[in-house]
Amino acid sequence: MPPTTRKRATCSFCGKEEQTVTRLIAGPGVNICSECVVICRDLLEQDKPPLSPAEVHEKGGAQPAKTPPRPLKVPAPVAIKTFLDQYVIGHDQTKKSLAVAVHNHYKRLTQPRDNAEFADVEIEKSNILLIGPTGCGKTLFARSLARLLDVPFAIADATTLTEAGYVGEDVENILLYLLQAANMDAKRAETGIIYIDEIDKIARKTENVSITRDVSGEGVQQALLKILDGTIARVPPQGGRKHPQQEYIRLDTSNILFICGGAFVGLDSIVRQRQGKRIIGYLDPLAKPPAGLSVSGLAVEPEDLIRYGLIPEFVGRLPVVSSLQELSEEDLVRIMVEPKNCMVKQYQKLLSMENVKLSFTDGALREMARLARTRKTGARGLRAILEHLMLEIMYEAPGEKSLRDIRITKDVVTAQLENPGCVTPLLKTA
Ligand code: ADP
Repeated sequence: MPPTTRKRATCSFCGKEEQTVTRLIAGPGVNICSECVVICRDLLEQDKPPLSPAEVHEKGGAQPAKTPPRPLKVPAPVAIKTFLDQYVIGHDQTKKSLAVAVHNHYKRLTQPRDNAEFADVEIEKSNILLIGPTGCGKTLFARSLARLLDVPFAIADATTLTEAGYVGEDVENILLYLLQAANMDAKRAETGIIYIDEIDKIARKTENVSITRDVSGEGVQQALLKILDGTIARVPPQGGRKHPQQEYIRLDTSNILFICGGAFVGLDSIVRQRQGKRIIGYLDPLAKPPAGLSVSGLAVEPEDLIRYGLIPEFVGRLPVVSSLQELSEEDLVRIMVEPKNCMVKQYQKLLSMENVKLSFTDGALREMARLARTRKTGARGLRAILEHLMLEIMYEAPGEKSLRDIRITKDVVTAQLENPGCVTPLLKTA
């Protein structure tokens, strides 16, 4: 008989083996390691309601930290990816590069200062650029990472920013959003994550350096350089424009992780043009495209971004670049049913409180995914379709005895979308 080998116990959350963690707690059919327990506790703490903006204003600016800051726990890249897998469907390669970049970024904050061998080696900041069509999960990535690490998180829109002195928002206002997310605790904000959306919209408008000032394009890029790099910024606590008599909150941005995102429409042709020039044979329709090259999963180089209209210094501040594919029909189906907090599970939970069972056939899910693809708004379109479909059901089901077991088929989806309000008779006879 072959010798039997006992399977080593591993954590069901991060996959680490028993002997590599401080403690592995076993439950019925599952295990959890001490590190994952800490992450879970932090997530629960984060669910506590934050201060409202009014309360923050009442407190009047930055607050000293009431409790000593919690030591930052930096999960291993594999654990970061495992966590992201629970919330974000697809984009495997992006998950890996984000996991490594974020791990390194936060390791940099926690590195011991007495390591003589590398005393004069400074690990640079790895701000991130995510390129991908709307609704494919760029913001979700940034939000999920902040959640995992339990650090303050803020979202800003690059299109609202202008260079200081012009109509619009000063770039320092981005930092104010982060401070607010940290309950005005500057020390905590300094370890946070900021997602800047629509970064492609501040590309230089023309290839030539303009004679007139480009205040909402290149000017904003210039203004963002310092805070992306690391500076002691002066943030006006009430937001708005800076003025000389105002008091400022000083915020060191060296450890804030910036994730920028944008659709970069048209970048694919710039990339293909470059690659076409270099890769002989690719332009031959029979030749296979080289690895990493596809219409949306672009192998982007800094020079492509510069040609697109980002200034070289700005590109230099975003060393980690990852491009996300447009979501496939299959991805969209999975988004509806798989993530921890997916839309279908939410509706099922809501209806279960009314003793109503809700199910979707494969055909129904596929039809919704197909429709969402035609709208070109990624998973955002999916939510709109599902909400539209469920409105009638959520309206009628609670008081309707004949609607206890609802099965949504492809026909129900088509009927509701073509003729809103007509689905409940279909469901009653189903
Ligand atoms: P983007 O920032 O790329 O425009 P978002 O991250 O705001 O897109 O996505 C909008 C919503 O769609 C998210 O809140 C999430 O519910 C859903 N979503 C998008 N992409 C994914 C994905 N890859 N996996 C799971 N859900 C997704």
